[in-house]
Amino acid sequence: MKILVVGGAGYIGSHVVADLCEKGNDVFVFDNLYSGSIENIDKKAKFIMGDVNSENDLDKLFKIKFDIVFHFAALKAAGESMDNPEIYSKNNINGTINLLNTMVAHDIKKIVFSSSAAVYGYPKYLPIDEKHTIKPINYYGYTKKVIEEILNWYGKLKEINYATLRYFNAAGYDINERIKEREKTTANLLPIVLECAVGLREKLNIFGDDYNTLDGTGIRDYIHVNDLSNAHLKAMDYLNKNKNNLVLNLGTGHGYSVLEVIKMAKKITGKEIKHSVIDRRAGDPEKLIASSDLAKKTINWEAEHSDLEKILTSMWNLYSKI
Ligand code: UDP
Repeated sequence: MKILVVGGAGYIGSHVVADLCEKGNDVFVFDNLYSGSIENIDKKAKFIMGDVNSENDLDKLFKIKFDIVFHFAALKAAGESMDNPEIYSKNNINGTINLLNTMVAHDIKKIVFSSSAAVYGYPKYLPIDEKHTIKPINYYGYTKKVIEEILNWYGKLKEINYATLRYFNAAGYDINERIKEREKTTANLLPIVLECAVGLREKLNIFGDDYNTLDGTGIRDYIHVNDLSNAHLKAMDYLNKNKNNLVLNLGTGHGYSVLEVIKMAKKITGKEIKHSVIDRRAGDPEKLIASSDLAKKTINWEAEHSDLEKILTSMWNLYSKI
């Protein structure tokens, strides 16, 4: 298969590229390297530098007749999206519309799209299934909602066949150590904890310990990036065999609190993780947990590598080399 991976130098994209190459596909990575790393692109893939905001770059790219497109290229910091919505509009919304329109112009009909649990906003019930109301509470989540709706329209009007994958808290690094570079700028809990362990940061600020949870800190459903990657390959197989579209949650159905993460990180790294409690962060729900029953049912996917110890160990393999 000739596969285009837009954003294939990034965190999740590079893991999927490695798996697609390993399966013998002909993989093309299109990336502007804004946050991705060229070192992380599998050597068997062909790299094309370019930007989804350039219609010219896209037109040139689509001279190649791809069988399917994976789209990972987006900004993903919820906090930043509230301060600077313009760049989120440009990259996540305009960029994806450019990509979809180019696909239509070149008669490419299949796409696997990276969405997020951020489309749900505050949970009305747990675990969150795909029928939960869509009501994002940050602009990042809104950009994903907009593209999900456009995909729905293009599905009907232009016969685009899509798999929309709503990630919960993506974490971990490749258990086979094919990925060499860690993400350099991240506001997520697990990388920050490991940055504390290696001394890149002095301490972790815990955003509130007065939530209605077992230890008072926020609970999230952390999903290993290798599990996410498996789901992408299974979604691709599904699109190759079916004309139906997919909208699927990807999580484990199990959550860990901030204090549980700190405790496990201490065990794995043997280092103290200095921390103190500050105010709650605006827009943080106390618990986010996925139901991934639909993914199990439709593509026979479930998490295999996502217990916290395995996730943090896979990250420590990279962080301990700093
Ligand atoms: N968190 C924290 N301190 C940090 C970053 C995150 O206490 O510096 C907490 C956050 O409140 C949430 C959990 O860790 O309960 C996961 O946050 P993250 O930003 O990684 O993911 P989110 O669920 O917000 O997308």
